[in-house]
Amino acid sequence: MTDATTSQTTRTALRVENATLIDGTGATPIADAVVIADAEGTITYAGPAATAPPASGDAFTGRVIDAGGRTVLPGFFDCHTHLAYAHGTPPGRRGELDPVLVTYDTATRLRQTLDAGVTTVRDLGGLATGYRTAVETGRITGPRVHTAVRIISHTGGHADVRLPDGTDLSGGEMSVLADTVDEARLAVRKVLRAGADLVKICATGGMGSPYDQPDDEGLLEEEIRAVVDECRRHGGKPVAAHAQGNAGILNAIRGGVTSIEHGYGLDDRAREMAGERGVFVVPTLSTVYAGIDKATMEPYHYEKKVRWSGITKENISRAIEQGTRIALGTDAAVCPHGQNLMELSYLVDLGMDPMDAIVAGTRTAAELLGVADRLGTLAPGRVADLIVCEGDPLADIGVLGDPANVVCVVQDGHVRKDTKGLLPSATPAGRRP
Ligand SMILES: [Zn+2]
Repeated sequence: MTDATTSQTTRTALRVENATLIDGTGATPIADAVVIADAEGTITYAGPAATAPPASGDAFTGRVIDAGGRTVLPGFFDCHTHLAYAHGTPPGRRGELDPVLVTYDTATRLRQTLDAGVTTVRDLGGLATGYRTAVETGRITGPRVHTAVRIISHTGGHADVRLPDGTDLSGGEMSVLADTVDEARLAVRKVLRAGADLVKICATGGMGSPYDQPDDEGLLEEEIRAVVDECRRHGGKPVAAHAQGNAGILNAIRGGVTSIEHGYGLDDRAREMAGERGVFVVPTLSTVYAGIDKATMEPYHYEKKVRWSGITKENISRAIEQGTRIALGTDAAVCPHGQNLMELSYLVDLGMDPMDAIVAGTRTAAELLGVADRLGTLAPGRVADLIVCEGDPLADIGVLGDPANVVCVVQDGHVRKDTKGLLPSATPAGRRP
């Protein structure tokens, strides 16, 4: 792919014009819209061209992106990634790989994810905080990173990737084991010491884990409660619960978690409880639609996925129908990296309105990460994270799933991708020919 990487360029004010604006709030799109950001990367205007500040003269000294009638949207979120792992590779053997090559490959995956239109990720296991710093400091170009670092699981649970005799070939970066209330608190303290933005726990077994089933329960409700309390004692860090079977989903919700990851077995009672308590659900449908491949999967994994895909589609479509608070996440690594916005199509396939799917990947996701005051919507005062895409995603949500259609990515006011040359590099300060 040829693209213009401009991560080291000086940031200037930007004016995106000749665009249809979808602002991430679910509001009706605005045809012929303008978005303006100042040189600090803060949006100062997002609305109709007719009422926009003038493009020339002293009022604007920056660069102009002519969107050419395309659609401008907020930079998307993927609330469930595993960027430290290549698609389809078993995390239990990770320690056998060359750590230098893993680092380079992880940086490549971060770049691919950004190019797909995702300007912020929440990584739920395996990604060290150094990647967050590397992005923040401009060493590499990638989405803004929130990371759980390591997953808290009980012995033999979903994230225990050790061999049956306990030998650890995973490199130790995947999980922390906890089997009592006290160990659960200790495990939280360890991941927070490592710099985690949030805490990820396993409330059930899973698809890719050899020793359990999705309906098996993970951490006990009292252990989950201890994890949540420990997070409360450290500034209220969010807790994401891997939870597939309904019994574990209920334990997690009663234990006070922020989000249910996967939620495949979610029944009416769980949906109701999640609604009452404001719990988010991140359905990771990409693992069901794009993560099943008999050729590359372990037989136990393939068999579980096939058995659960029908259950998932039924329960998640009911959650969509009942207005469950859904945020977009893919579980990338289980499904291919860099195709994150395919998830929008899967949500729509299960009955979600295309505009609601966009909101799930923008405003609602920003709410889940606790950053909705800065990110997820295009409005004055927000950070200039935006993408320009071909076509009309409301008529065909699938256009966003192909990174080739995401022709421009702006992050924090920096132009990170511009495959169509929308930003003429030679344009002098705001004056258009
Ligand atoms: Zn996951």
